[in-house]
Amino acid sequence: MLYLDNSSTTNILPEVKDTMLTYLTEEFGNPSSKYYSIAENAHSAIEYSREMVALLIGCQKDEVFFTSGATESNNMILKGIADFYQEQNNHIITTKVEHPAILETCKYLEAKGFEITYLDVDSFGRIDIQNFKEILSKNPPLLVSIIWGNNEIGSLNPISEIAEICDSHNVFFHTDATQVIGKLETNINFEPGINFLSGSAHKLHGPKGSGFVIIRKDALGLPIKLTPLLHGGGQEKDYRSGTHSVHNIVGLGKAAEIANNKLKDNIDNLLKLENELKNILSTQFGEQIIFNNDISNKIPGLLSVQFKGVNNEVLVKNLANDIALSTGSACSSSKPSHVLEACGYPIDQIRSTIRFSLSPYNEVSELKIFERL
Ligand code: PMP
Repeated sequence: MLYLDNSSTTNILPEVKDTMLTYLTEEFGNPSSKYYSIAENAHSAIEYSREMVALLIGCQKDEVFFTSGATESNNMILKGIADFYQEQNNHIITTKVEHPAILETCKYLEAKGFEITYLDVDSFGRIDIQNFKEILSKNPPLLVSIIWGNNEIGSLNPISEIAEICDSHNVFFHTDATQVIGKLETNINFEPGINFLSGSAHKLHGPKGSGFVIIRKDALGLPIKLTPLLHGGGQEKDYRSGTHSVHNIVGLGKAAEIANNKLKDNIDNLLKLENELKNILSTQFGEQIIFNNDISNKIPGLLSVQFKGVNNEVLVKNLANDIALSTGSACSSSKPSHVLEACGYPIDQIRSTIRFSLSPYNEVSELKIFERL
């Protein structure tokens, strides 16, 4: 079967699996225990993973905190900042095209009395900077949370520009970078305006249930305060508690290390594969298909394609024995896409859209399967 649903999840690389197995078996120590070797080894392995994530993101090692995935990271920042600073300001700005881990958290906060502004987007799902600046100036928020690269249509927001605007207004800025890490240059070393960033291991050939949040130090070099989601032993410098899931963290670390070492090759591969797939689909289906993406400014390897007059659920189901595809986000697959709706697509076009998401480890030869359909 040809797997083209890599925005939903990816397969674990053999090196990642092998590293994880070691920490599931012989190296089973608790990294918070002391002195004996398997505890110290587990601790060192976690710290090595932290370094690998820091290298990939371009931040300090002590700005990386491990979580159970990007859902938790997003919840942690939004709820944690909202709770800690609610007396100062209760306005949060986000967009209409975020992942449910942001949108549902915002709905929860709204019900608690927070004021949430959901920014409109253009036909590719990107915010309008002028509109954003006006809203920000009129009603300065506590926090802005904007997705870096969209999980359904692949469009990129101008994250550096948004970060700069937030910085100049002294507003916290969080970005959900889950879909872009390992597929773009995401080094935030020179982006002082990005205070928080979420990521997930299983989108970059690591394990599910493992992710991270970057919490950058403030201009004085001090940690930003927020209310933790999980109280307890304070294992992640009190930002998060719970015994470290060592195998999952080392899996994330290894996946981050490989993604960083191969970044350029992986991007080249994704672009090559995407071009090939576009050509094959165009030749095969001609006028019957429309590409929804902004080809010039998007996540490499993600294509959102309308098959005119075809129901996307039926098509995905009919192809399921040979090709794994999806109609959009796996996290909201039962409903028509809120992302395409916010981009202005009518319901019939939403219901005929399919997402193709490649991995750098796909092969051009595999794509020939479409020629045989
Ligand atoms: N944000 C985005 C943009 C995503 O694509 C996903 C995964 N679908 C998440 C957050 C949630 O990540 P996780 O599965 O690690 O909780």
